[in-house]
Amino acid sequence: MIPIIPIDSATPNPHAPLTGENTISGLKNPPPLALYIHIPWCARKCPYCDFNSHENKLKIPENAYVDALIADLEQATPLVWGRKISSVFFGGGTPSLFSAKAIDKILSHVRMLTPLEYDAEVTLEANPGSVDAGHFAGYKAAGVTRLSIGIQSFNNQYLNALGRIHDEGEAMAAAELAMATFDQVNLDVMYALPNQTLEDALQDAKRACALNPSHLSFYHLTLEPNTPFHRTPPSLPDDDTSAVMQEKIEVILKEHGFDHYETSGFAKPGKQCRHNLNYWTFGDYLGIGAGAHSKLSFHDKIIRQTRHKHPNRYLEHAVKGEAVDNEWSIPREELGFEFTMNALRLTGGFDLSLFEQRTGLNRSAISKQLNQAEKKGLLTQSLNDQHQVIIEPTIMGQRFLNELLQIFL
Ligand code: SF4
Repeated sequence: MIPIIPIDSATPNPHAPLTGENTISGLKNPPPLALYIHIPWCARKCPYCDFNSHENKLKIPENAYVDALIADLEQATPLVWGRKISSVFFGGGTPSLFSAKAIDKILSHVRMLTPLEYDAEVTLEANPGSVDAGHFAGYKAAGVTRLSIGIQSFNNQYLNALGRIHDEGEAMAAAELAMATFDQVNLDVMYALPNQTLEDALQDAKRACALNPSHLSFYHLTLEPNTPFHRTPPSLPDDDTSAVMQEKIEVILKEHGFDHYETSGFAKPGKQCRHNLNYWTFGDYLGIGAGAHSKLSFHDKIIRQTRHKHPNRYLEHAVKGEAVDNEWSIPREELGFEFTMNALRLTGGFDLSLFEQRTGLNRSAISKQLNQAEKKGLLTQSLNDQHQVIIEPTIMGQRFLNELLQIFL
C-alpha cells in the first residue's frame, strides 16, 4: 500500500505559469530526492481501493512497460541532473506481479541514469497469494533491500470481506519467506474492517508483532469515493470502537518495541522507512510510471507533475517522451498547507527551520496558524537544547489531524 500524497489541493489551475505569485525566494539547497516507480496492475481489484491499479484480465505487457519506464526516466533526468537519489520505491498496484528480471532491468537503468546512493533504500511492494513469493530471492539479487507486504489481516473472515485473493496461510507464508530473505520487512495491516470485533483487530496486531518485522503500517479502513465499498458500504465498527482499536493496537505495538513515528507508521529503532520520511519532511520525489506524481524543487519554484494515468495511454506516450500530462508550480500561499499536511504526520513533529529550508518561505508565513493550533491544544511549540523551535502535534492533534490541517488551509 503506497502512502497517499494528496495533491488535489495543489492548485485549481494545473497549467499555472510561473507568475510572481508562485515565485519563491530563499530556497538555497534542493531537498533530498527519492524515486517512485508505479506498477499499475493487480490480480484483482479490491472493493475499497482507489489507487491507480487495474485488474490484469490479459497478460501484463511487462517488457513494453519496462521500456516505457526507462524512456520516462531518460526524459526526466535533466530535471534532477546531478542530484543523488536516496531511496527507490516500487509501488502499485502489485509490483510483485513483475518478474525479478524486469525489476533488475529497471534498477540497472536507474543506476546507469542517476547517481543512486550506494546504500539507497530500495523497497518493493508485494502481495501474498500469487506467484509473488517465488520472486523474492530474485528481487534481492536485483538490489531490492526492503519488502513491504500487503497482509491486511491474518483472519480469513476479514480477508474475504476485503475481497483479497490471499488467505491466512498465504499471508503467513509470504511474511515468513520475506523475513528469511530481507533484513527489512514492512507488513501492511488494516483495522476497523467490516464487522470486525475489537478482539480480532488486536489479534491481528499480536500476530503481526509475533513475526517480528522491522516495520509495521496500520491503516484504518476508509470508504473512498468511486469504490464499490463507498457505493455499498459494508457494516463497519463505529467511531468509538475504531478509536479504542487504534489506542489498543498502539499499546501492543509499543510493548513489542515499535516506535510510533508517523500517523500509520511503526518501526523498530533505526528502521523507519526512509522513502516515506522523505515525503513527510517535504522532500522531493520523481515519480515515473502510469499516474505517478512528482514534486521537484528549483531555486525559484516548486513544481508538481502527474503522468498519464491509464496504463495504455502511459505506454503510448512514455516511449515518445511524453509521459507527463500535467505540470504546475505550487502557489506560494499554498506551501504552508502543503508542508504541514506532510510534516504534521510525524508524531515527533519537526524543527521549524525545516519549513524555511523546504519551502523557501520565512517562518512568519505560518506563525499565525501555529499559534491558533496551539491555542486549540492541537500542537505545541517549544525550544529544544539546540535552540530550535520544535512543532509537535499533541495526542489530540494526531487523533484529529484533519481538524489540525484545516487551520493551515
Ligand atoms: S492489491 Fe492493493 S493496489 Fe491492488 S487493488 Fe488491492 S488494495 Fe488496490
